[in-house]
Amino acid sequence: MNISEEEFREIFYHSPIAKLIISATAADYAILDVNNAYLLATQTERASLIGKSVFSAFPENPIDHFSKNNEKIIISFEQAKATKKPDILNRYRYDISISGTDQFLEKYWTATNTPILDENGAVKMIIHSPCDVTDLYFSEKRKKKAIIAIKNQRKQLYSIFMQAPVGIGIFLGPDFIVDMVNPRICKIYGKNAMQMIGEPVFDVLPFAKGQGFEELLNHVRITGETYEGMAIEVPLIRNGLLEKVYVDFVYEPFYEDENTISGVIVVTTEVTAKVMAMRKLEEAEERARLAADAVDLGVYDLNILNGEIITSKRFANIFGFEETQLHKDYISAIHPDDVFLRKLAHEKAIEKGQMNYESRIIWPDKSLRWVRIEGKVIKDKKNNPIRILGTILDITALKQDKEQEKKLITLVDNSVELMSIFNMEGIPSYINTAGMELLGLESIEKLQNLEFFQPEILTTLIREGSWAGKMMIHNYTSGEVFPVFNNCIRIDDNVTGKPIAVGAVMRDLRPELSAKQALADSEQLLRNITRAAPTALWMSNRKGEITYVNQTWIDWSGNTFQENLLYGWMSIILPEDLKLVVELFQNAIHSRQQYDVEFRIDHADGSQHWCVALGQPQFNEIGEFSGYIGSCTDITEHKELQDQKDNFIGIASHELKTPVTSLKGYAQVLERILKKKGHEAEADMMRKMDTQLNRLTSLIGDLLDVTKINSGKLQFNDRIFELQPMLSELVQDLQFTTEKHTLIENFKPTGKTYADKEQIEQVIINLLTNAIKYSPDANKIIIHMEQVNDEIIVGIEDFGIGISAEEKARVFEQFYRVSGKMQHTFSGLGLGLYISAEIIKRVGGRIWVESKESQGSCFYFSLPVYT
Ligand code: ADP
Repeated sequence: MNISEEEFREIFYHSPIAKLIISATAADYAILDVNNAYLLATQTERASLIGKSVFSAFPENPIDHFSKNNEKIIISFEQAKATKKPDILNRYRYDISISGTDQFLEKYWTATNTPILDENGAVKMIIHSPCDVTDLYFSEKRKKKAIIAIKNQRKQLYSIFMQAPVGIGIFLGPDFIVDMVNPRICKIYGKNAMQMIGEPVFDVLPFAKGQGFEELLNHVRITGETYEGMAIEVPLIRNGLLEKVYVDFVYEPFYEDENTISGVIVVTTEVTAKVMAMRKLEEAEERARLAADAVDLGVYDLNILNGEIITSKRFANIFGFEETQLHKDYISAIHPDDVFLRKLAHEKAIEKGQMNYESRIIWPDKSLRWVRIEGKVIKDKKNNPIRILGTILDITALKQDKEQEKKLITLVDNSVELMSIFNMEGIPSYINTAGMELLGLESIEKLQNLEFFQPEILTTLIREGSWAGKMMIHNYTSGEVFPVFNNCIRIDDNVTGKPIAVGAVMRDLRPELSAKQALADSEQLLRNITRAAPTALWMSNRKGEITYVNQTWIDWSGNTFQENLLYGWMSIILPEDLKLVVELFQNAIHSRQQYDVEFRIDHADGSQHWCVALGQPQFNEIGEFSGYIGSCTDITEHKELQDQKDNFIGIASHELKTPVTSLKGYAQVLERILKKKGHEAEADMMRKMDTQLNRLTSLIGDLLDVTKINSGKLQFNDRIFELQPMLSELVQDLQFTTEKHTLIENFKPTGKTYADKEQIEQVIINLLTNAIKYSPDANKIIIHMEQVNDEIIVGIEDFGIGISAEEKARVFEQFYRVSGKMQHTFSGLGLGLYISAEIIKRVGGRIWVESKESQGSCFYFSLPVYT
């Protein structure tokens, strides 16, 4: 299939590359046809072009005189025609007129002029195909300009780099090859650029190797993070000397392009001088601080104008604070009594330029300290005081020392012993008041030391450092020669260690000697007394071991002092009595109570004796029990008399009993007879006589009972019985004997008991009659009975005269009657309670009394419940 001419034209017109077909034969290069792309590029219309000469169709820009386009295009056409090959006209200017205006658009083109041959091979047409390269042209032009600008910038940068007042270096790659260095960095490194460029930096600076810089540089190179170092020490060789150089530096990553770090830029300044100056300042400060510390001084800098204070830590410590404080805190620590003193010191300081005062301060823990504050006033140029610089020192110990010294001197001065100090030449430099008095001296000069220190004492003193012993001295006034105990020491020089003085303390031995004599005398006296005493004396320790017996006991026992000690004394006690003696002694030791026991001993001569031993517990100064001091009295005679008395009473009362019984019979008979005869008054007298005879019988009975009890002859007839009916019966009986009192029963149920019924009756009668007798002003008596655990307790309560606390324990003794004015008001022998107690004790019961004087008494006894 052939393409028609029409179709060719269409293809030509719509070809995207601008094309102009020009006649090659015509002299004026007339335009034969043009395609759409060309029209678009040149902003023209086909009709206005066809048939026109190229040059008239596209007139030259009148203002562009330099391009010579037409000539260039003609040459190219000629060339194409001559060579019959396409000729390329490179980037020429050909401005395009803007239609409707006389303006031109600057345009650049690259055109191909392709010759089209006819069948004879002659060039018939030229296809002119221009390509608009205006944009390209302008962009290239801009690029060129930019390159020039960059070149200029680089030049500038380089000169900045070279002239920079800081050292700059660029080190590339993992080996940090020196790429660029400016003169300043060369100076710092002590090398010139020639020596460095192209070399690994650490080869050039071998002493900087291994100091950690490699790692830092690597870190920057790898991470891209900047690193800054301040006042870092670098060992460097400069001028042939190894120096410690201090530098501030920044390591910045060196970017090859946006993403690649190819090395590190080092910007550095040398700060060696600054560091050195700082060091010196610090050293100076440190020295000042050390000096202050060495003497334990706190330092301060007080701004007088605003009251602010800067202090050292020690300053704060002296005030008892851990850390430095505000000025007001220091001020409030000052002792209130010293606040004014401080104010004065400050005023004076401003006037004189110097400050100096001592003050007390109160620590946060309330303890009191002494400080000395010194300072110098600093003035400004106008001579106005602005600051006070100074120190503080804790002088508490110093003050205390002085205080101690004062106390010591007072102590020495007030001592009763002679205290003195002599130099090595024997000249006394000090003697206290007591010493002056002891020696009868008015002035120290009169004393001749050599009398004190015989050569042998001095030699010992110098050799051993001290000497102590008895010696004789004399009183200069009275001339009396007397013994003293001299205690002296050598005093050495603190520094040289050589003896410089002797200190002597002398104790007057006279009082001691006379006291000793007095003691010896009194001991002798005591010995004589105890020897002479008919009473044996003894002492025991806290364990009850006998530590002393006197001569009397030694004589009685026929054993030696030693043999009687500890438990030896027991050997002369009758075996049947020993158990009681030991038991009571043990009880007494245990309870630290008085010891009181009667027993029999065998004397050395074979005779048997009754003794009563009494022991008094002893306590030392601090109240500790230390043992017993006791006596042992021979009561044999007394015992015999007592026996005689008991015998006598026994016989007498027995003898009395028979006539009284017959008297009683006669009296009763007589009463009946008289009654019968109607002699009422006489019969009544007879009845009174009978009552009195009853009392007599009862008294005789009591006496007989006592003698029986004492001789162990009281008979018993024990059986089981109930207490309550018996008690009720007795209450009824005794109610008849008193009109004044109502006897009230307060009984609770109890068990039975086992005892001698008659004897218990006797006890109850005794207690009831006493209750009636000793409560003359009262109107009732209460009889209590109850069982507590396995005891029946009977209490007889009256509201009478009562018994004092001291008498209470003794009312149960034989013949004991409460003394005082009452004694004669109430008749009695003082036997009833004794007998009662003996009866109750025998059956294993207890008897006791609770009483308050003039309020009444309650006598109790208990009996075991029979089970
Ligand atoms: P007396 O025969 O003297 O009454 P007692 O042995 O019965 O002898 O009593 C001894 C002493 O105890 C009496 O002298 C009396 O002082 C005192 N006494 C006994 N009972 C009472 C009591 N109920 N109230 C006050 N004192 C009493």
